[in-house]
Amino acid sequence: MNAKNPSASTEGTALQDASEMSDAAEKLNTPLLEIRGLHVCAGELEILKGVDLTVNAGEVHAIMGPNGSGKSTLASVLAGRPEYTVTGGQVLYEGDNLLELAPEMRARRGVFLAFQYPVELPGVRIWQFLKAAVDALRAHRGQEELSARDFDRLLREKVKMAEIDPDLVKRSVNEGFSGGEKKRNEILQMAILEPKLAILDETDSGLDIDALRIVADGVNRLRNASNAIVLVTHYQRILNYITPDHVHVLQDGRMVRSGGPELAHELEARGYDWIKDTAAVDA
Ligand code: ADP
Ligand code: MG
Repeated sequence: MNAKNPSASTEGTALQDASEMSDAAEKLNTPLLEIRGLHVCAGELEILKGVDLTVNAGEVHAIMGPNGSGKSTLASVLAGRPEYTVTGGQVLYEGDNLLELAPEMRARRGVFLAFQYPVELPGVRIWQFLKAAVDALRAHRGQEELSARDFDRLLREKVKMAEIDPDLVKRSVNEGFSGGEKKRNEILQMAILEPKLAILDETDSGLDIDALRIVADGVNRLRNASNAIVLVTHYQRILNYITPDHVHVLQDGRMVRSGGPELAHELEARGYDWIKDTAAVDA
């Protein structure tokens, strides 16, 4: 139980256990992600105008909203994309300032981002990419590199879970992939890296029912009590397959409404204009 101090089981146990328990309790009470009053600009344009969001381990959140409301900007800022400037507010990840962490450090600490338009990496095969990512994660945790054989075993298990054609992992990352293949690759990455916080920015169009199912099945299989998933989506469709714990509506750079899964259905039935009207009344 106590790797740092093996004698702790016989001496000084009570004190150490108490302090470990209070550390653990504190961790339990700290949200995985806490966004407070976030303001973000691209050049002169203010896109996010004070966004608040709290995500705890074990939760799936859907962020919905009309085109141009700032959903992808929010995901991009969490990923650390340089074209956006944070002009106000805070983003805490496990209580630490996420915005100060370099993007690769965010990844090592368990933040995973899947983009609306995934990059192609010609000449880098999926398995090579995943092996490098896994080794970097393990190095960060002070673990040894996986042997080729152990990695192969892990990859095979996850390929099966993500229902991927095993030949796909021999191809260059996303090069010439269909929409569905990109989605499968995304889910495979998640399955292998086991992020604590996954942020998936789903395309607003062009995702066929197959690709939708791949993402939904993947999310449903990977969600558990110790991780969290933030699903950014324009359409309610995908939420027919994933039941989020919380739904938020982003409109013109502000969270104008939050609720349970029923909110997504209400949006499906009544559209985003209904929110705009009622938000104006609330204000
Ligand atoms: P969503 O994903 O909700 O459709 P985006 O975050 O992509 O919205 O965009 C929000 C608004 O900010 C849009 O009007 C978009 O044109 C603008 N925008 C996003 N990124 C940039 C950028 N890098 N430079 C200038 N304008 C941007
Ligand atoms: Mg978008």
